[in-house]
Amino acid sequence: MTTDWKTLEQQYYMQCARRQPIVLVRGEGTRVWDEHDNAYLDFTAGWAVNNLGHAHPVLANVIAEQAHTLLQTSNQFYNIPQLQAAQLLIEQSCFDQVFFCNSGAEANEGAIKLARKYGMQHRAGAYHIITAMNSFHGRTLTTTAATGQPHYHAPYHPVPAGFDHVPFDDLDAIKAVTTEHTVAIMLEPVQGEGGVHVPSSGYLAGVKQWCEANGLLLIFDEIQTGIGRLGTLFGYQHFGIEPDIMSLAKGLGGGIPIGAVLAKSHAAVFEPGDHGSTFGGNALTCATAHATLKYLLDHDLLAHAQQMGRHLQQKLRSLQAAHPCIVDVRGLGLLMAVEFSTPVAADVVSASNEAGLLLNPVRPNAIRFMPPLTVTAAEIDEAIDKLNTALQNLALEVSIKG
Ligand SMILES: *Cc1c(COP(=O)(O)O)cnc(C)c1O
Repeated sequence: MTTDWKTLEQQYYMQCARRQPIVLVRGEGTRVWDEHDNAYLDFTAGWAVNNLGHAHPVLANVIAEQAHTLLQTSNQFYNIPQLQAAQLLIEQSCFDQVFFCNSGAEANEGAIKLARKYGMQHRAGAYHIITAMNSFHGRTLTTTAATGQPHYHAPYHPVPAGFDHVPFDDLDAIKAVTTEHTVAIMLEPVQGEGGVHVPSSGYLAGVKQWCEANGLLLIFDEIQTGIGRLGTLFGYQHFGIEPDIMSLAKGLGGGIPIGAVLAKSHAAVFEPGDHGSTFGGNALTCATAHATLKYLLDHDLLAHAQQMGRHLQQKLRSLQAAHPCIVDVRGLGLLMAVEFSTPVAADVVSASNEAGLLLNPVRPNAIRFMPPLTVTAAEIDEAIDKLNTALQNLALEVSIKG
């Protein structure tokens, strides 16, 4: 007898997620299998997390080995994987120090706390942080307040104060709300959850200049854009500017939960007792993050991600030419979205599921593509064929109904 997992979820799990009707049981590379052994190409990668694909043997071995050695010590003591992961991240980035935590929201909490303390020390108690409308910064109360999407705030008022939301990709709007109470500007270099929005060239450089001219900290939320997603190790490298603080999570651990906040020395203002975490920086997650980063660098996955990103983009543009319902193809590297003329994303995702392709309905009218960085050209071609089939099937249904 098979268990009815969907009913079990309904009964026992808090109903926060809108789930696809698929129970995933295993994965390998870009593919996953459900409880009935149906195979799917996975272009969601656990929400831009599984950058080396599913069940990567190198990661599986590191996790097993570390589990047999040492999992957790607390930060009352030193542990070696934490320091090795820290060294590699700092050597590969423009930052001077890192703090490890357990998730993206927690990394942003750390970034916000750094900015507030910096404001206390250097800007007469200024604590306002400018963030973008349509941004996504996490689900804790403070990162929900930072997120520029009022519907996420609605059930939880009063949310913490001190966030000024301005339209993304609009430097004048930032200038207009900057006051002596402002301490930082926090942005995703490419908005992910908001629908994959790449800013105009010059916007982020302009924001950086504005920060420098006014003594503000620039915080990049690279939780989704970091670790190769845009084809550079960190998104800021693509745009040729350096933020003062950066948050990471998602791809950092290749599938295990880890977050990080990195800062240049002038912004790394935490002192003993200011911040902390029981699990943050534990040996297991840090050994896995170190192995993920090392694999990505040693196997030139950044160049591969750039190449595959170009291939995916070109394939999506051909698909657009064949399907007038697609009104936009956008993104960078292996973070892409397709926008439709009508809110059909949920239908497209269901039809793609049927065709054996997993996608993310990022907006009611847009779907997001974020495959593992190890994805091959053949897998991209296969995914586009499946999506083409899905779109054809949908159109067929519409015309039959009509
Ligand atoms: C996913 C995401 C977060 C939140 O990360 P969690 O690990 O879910 O807390 C924050 N910011 C961005 C840009 C994200 O994509």
